[in-house]
Amino acid sequence: MSAVVCNSAKELTVTTITSSELPSSSLLSSKKTIINYRLPQIEQLLQHSDLADYVRLLSRPVVTNTLRQLFASIRQHPDFKTQGVNHLDVMALVLDSCRQLYRRRQQRVINATGIAVHTNLGRSPIDEQIWDSVKAVNVGYNNLELKLSDGKRGDRNGLLPTLIQSWIGAEDCVVVNNNAASVYLVLHALAAGKEVIVSRGEQVQIGGGFRIPDILALSGCKLVEVGTTNITTSDDYINAITENTAMVLMVHQSNFSMQGFTESPDIQDVAERLPEHVSLVIDQGSGLSSEQYAQSEVSLPRYLQMGADLVCFSGDKIIGGPQAGIIAGCPNLCQRLAKNPMMRTFRPGRIVLSMLEQLLVQKLNRDPAGFGVAQQALDRAKISQTLAQQWAQRWQPYVQAVPLVMQVGGGAIPSETYPCYGLKLTLPGKAQLHLDALRELPTPIIGYVNSNQLLLNVATLLDSDHAVFIVQLDDYIQSYINTEAK
Ligand SMILES: *Cc1c(COP(=O)(O)O)cnc(C)c1O
Repeated sequence: MSAVVCNSAKELTVTTITSSELPSSSLLSSKKTIINYRLPQIEQLLQHSDLADYVRLLSRPVVTNTLRQLFASIRQHPDFKTQGVNHLDVMALVLDSCRQLYRRRQQRVINATGIAVHTNLGRSPIDEQIWDSVKAVNVGYNNLELKLSDGKRGDRNGLLPTLIQSWIGAEDCVVVNNNAASVYLVLHALAAGKEVIVSRGEQVQIGGGFRIPDILALSGCKLVEVGTTNITTSDDYINAITENTAMVLMVHQSNFSMQGFTESPDIQDVAERLPEHVSLVIDQGSGLSSEQYAQSEVSLPRYLQMGADLVCFSGDKIIGGPQAGIIAGCPNLCQRLAKNPMMRTFRPGRIVLSMLEQLLVQKLNRDPAGFGVAQQALDRAKISQTLAQQWAQRWQPYVQAVPLVMQVGGGAIPSETYPCYGLKLTLPGKAQLHLDALRELPTPIIGYVNSNQLLLNVATLLDSDHAVFIVQLDDYIQSYINTEAK
């Protein structure tokens, strides 16, 4: 709130009209300027058709409050005492305050970053077909915790364990709100008060504030570090085991890839040599299963085949679902997770669970709606040259088609880039200014700057974005041409 008010207050001076621009009315020439101190009535303003959209988008009380704060800040401004509101375009300030506020609301944006799973942009968009399919189960009551077979209380996993078994071969699963919660729950439920062995090469920080050593400490486990940053062998793990060890935790190196002189343990070897009382848990992260584009990565089924007792991953990365954490593997361990009291704080609701079910059904049926956003972007990358050239022609000479690369993103497959095409804006002016201006559009377009050039990657545009993308760029370029002509 305060940011909006300050912002508007700052702009008070911007809209000040210099005295030379004032009409030389008789009032002015007689030097008896009447200063108007009256701001419009808020109730009246709310009736104004220009504000109707904001009332709809922000709610009447929020708009009212915003206007009150704006008017309070206008009254406190030093210029108000001397000039009142004569020099102000009050309506413009009102609309700007509302606009600033609306921009904080969740809204659709167009991803032209070339990063398919972009954490700042909500990771995976939900396929429209999947969204539509789960509508009925969410707008009505459903059997979230009711067994239809006998009318008794059920668990909320529904068909998910069965689907996950068909998909990656895990015998059981537990679903939580995100994958950070997966890691915490696994540690807390299976290893609190015990030792957990982690390679020094995997003491990673994933995004803001998720550091493996911290999570380990919070979950009540004792971290036992083995190996070095670039080399950890099976012997390192096996030699560190004591009778107090509960788990070996391996963490996928999400945000970076190490190249050169590195050595990772043979996971199968570690799994085979682990004593009965030690479980092997792998935080795989991305949810990669049988996708063909990530040959350098180890998939979930492969980890399970090599002997991992549990794997965990996010629902909104490669698989293309809602935010969730999925822990899959050994039924005994899954049962212990499900029974842990912390599970109650991590369990997702039916919106997430029903979407995951639907996604997996479509995935198992090899329906494109179940491919996930990464696969869809890679498919679009193949036709991106044609699109980019078509659009470049439309907007020449202000836009050029250029070869670019795209990434899966979201910490998945950090080492791979894929060739695609995009647009380079050649309008005069700093790339950063265009980048900012495109974010101001009604449906913000999120591009990126490289070597002082504004780039719009075409591979990550959804098909449903195309029409709006074209209309907005038409307008943007046209408004540039118009200002140029002046
Ligand atoms: C992305 C990721 C996480 C965090 O998952 P969220 O779903 O964002 O909580 C944890 N571990 C790995 C290896 C990841 O890739």
